[in-house]
Amino acid sequence: MREVILCKYGEIVLKGLNKSYFESTMVSAVKRRMAGLGNCDIHYGQSVLYIEPLDDDFAFEEALRRVKCVFGIVNVIRAASCEKNLEAILATAKEYLPDYLRGAKSFKVTGKRADKRFPMTSPEISAQVGGAILSVMPKIDVDLYNPEKLVHVEIRENAAFLHADDSRGAGGIPSGTSGRALLLLSGGIDSPVAGYMVAKRGAVIEALHFESFPYTSERAKEKVLELARLVTEYTGKMNVHVISLTKIQEELKKSINEEYFTLLLRRSMMRLAERVAKKHHCEALVTGESLGQVASQTMQALGVTDSVVDMPVFRPCIGMDKEEIITIARMINTFETSILPYEDCCTVFTPKHPKTRPALDKVIAEEKKLDMAALEDEAFAAIEDIVIKTY
Ligand code: ATP
Ligand code: MG
Repeated sequence: MREVILCKYGEIVLKGLNKSYFESTMVSAVKRRMAGLGNCDIHYGQSVLYIEPLDDDFAFEEALRRVKCVFGIVNVIRAASCEKNLEAILATAKEYLPDYLRGAKSFKVTGKRADKRFPMTSPEISAQVGGAILSVMPKIDVDLYNPEKLVHVEIRENAAFLHADDSRGAGGIPSGTSGRALLLLSGGIDSPVAGYMVAKRGAVIEALHFESFPYTSERAKEKVLELARLVTEYTGKMNVHVISLTKIQEELKKSINEEYFTLLLRRSMMRLAERVAKKHHCEALVTGESLGQVASQTMQALGVTDSVVDMPVFRPCIGMDKEEIITIARMINTFETSILPYEDCCTVFTPKHPKTRPALDKVIAEEKKLDMAALEDEAFAAIEDIVIKTY
């Protein structure tokens, strides 16, 4: 008996001719994550990817943790593998499964015969394995309708696999199969979630963070870099670009009607983001905005900010309540970092009464009071590029 990890594909199984492209992209992502964990064999077939440790030093738990973050995999299963004969299967069932069933009142075995040459039917395999479990665990019951635990026996091409423990994988489609997008990453709760959601649909994510030193601190920037790193548990790596908005904010504060401050700042952020995106071959922008959450996220305000760019702006949180966003933030482990109390550039000089239903012509008239292009050229020229490579 050997313990192995089985990874079951999600949507990739539905792909047609380009299935092998999606599959090889995902397998490369798994291989990168397994580097440094010890000797293992990684192979795939019939829409399952197998990670088989080759010696006892292999860091099995860490491998499980890492592979659960690979997009394209819906189920991550730790299983015992053995030879494809009844004797070996029953011996493995008795040795391996009691650890997973201990304490449970009932169980059910489901057999699956992917290798149709195996001489027993699925119900026959299930019955035999059920009997083997009962022989070593006399207190547990078989319950075919409402079992507390499910035991699986899979007869596959190369071996038989037994398991009673599966967890959800990251789902989605493999990173790198949907192009490249630029995430506007603040230190808040929403934007890391937005980046994760677009990455889950296969996009490579680059990030752009705006700072406003000395109004925002070095620690605020470190927090953002830590958020980016947490997202790389899923994406593998991320280029983070940092632009200072200090001068733009100071000039806006001096020259324009305070009510328009946030809107004009956000238009500047979007224009700069588009420039960064084009430079780094990103085809869309991503923000963490949610309809109606704050004054700059009303439909009219979003229209005013969108009108300065001509690439798609993805806002995966647009229809989500804060609580729903927080649920995902907790799941991807960014929440605790996001709530660390550091300032964001968007909270520097914020007006008391921002416009919630801005008219575009008035916004443009206000914007003309300043040479925004020159200010943005200056900010863009001083961009800082940081690479975060986790896998
Ligand atoms: P978050 O929780 O992500 O900070 P928020 O609810 O605080 O979002 P805003 O501060 O209004 O909302 O920002 C809306 C969106 O604008 C953010 O989700 C993010 O995409 C972008 N954004 C805000 N501040 C910055 C920043 N300093 N750098 C880059 N993008 C930013
Ligand atoms: Mg914010």
